[in-house]
Amino acid sequence: MSGIADNLARIKNSLPNGVTLIAISKTKSNEDILEVYNAGHKILGENKVQELIGKYNELPKDIEWHLVGHLQSNKIKYVIPFVALIHSVDSWKLLLEIERQAMKTGKRVKVLLQIFIANEETKFGLDEEELIEICEATEHFPHIEICGLMGMATNTEDMNVVRTEFKSLKALFDKIKLQYFSDISSFKEISMGMSSDYQIAIEEGSTMVRVGSSIFGER
Ligand SMILES: *Cc1c(COP(=O)(O)O)cnc(C)c1O
Repeated sequence: MSGIADNLARIKNSLPNGVTLIAISKTKSNEDILEVYNAGHKILGENKVQELIGKYNELPKDIEWHLVGHLQSNKIKYVIPFVALIHSVDSWKLLLEIERQAMKTGKRVKVLLQIFIANEETKFGLDEEELIEICEATEHFPHIEICGLMGMATNTEDMNVVRTEFKSLKALFDKIKLQYFSDISSFKEISMGMSSDYQIAIEEGSTMVRVGSSIFGER
């Protein structure tokens, strides 16, 4: 087995039931990605539209592609036909454009709303007030299925900070679920945790971990 397949197997075996692994393949070659695919893992994620489209065209069509990075609304239309889940919806404007493009294709696009939980200037995401505004207006987005929330913790060695941020995302998810999605069974995902912190994220209630470098190696 290659290093990549070994890493994948080790991580997959460590995940509890109900936690989905998204293998983040950004900057990695098709050859590397095929090692994961041939080991039986077909759920992959990219953070850039251009790169995602290239890989979608070149790689097997039964790969389930997730988009995890900050998105410009003018690029949305290229991924709508095939993307399985957009994790990073962080503005009203983006939501409107996804609705417009999804309507054209007649399909319902699955998204997560990205919440700002870090204490850094650099991370994208909605605050609680913006989240609530969106949740109160879902009738404007009939072609969008809101499947849950996503968040990225502060990039720090201090795992107490990371844990506190994950806890706050879980608490917000529970509150929003109860208030707006209590009878909508598809609102169930909390996408949190990357290579450095996915174990903590799982302890705090993550249902989707986005792991790149621990599978594919450093970028
Ligand atoms: C790159 C990336 C990841 C994976 O990061 P690793 O540290 O390599 O596991 C997860 N989520 C997002 C949004 C990313 O851009």
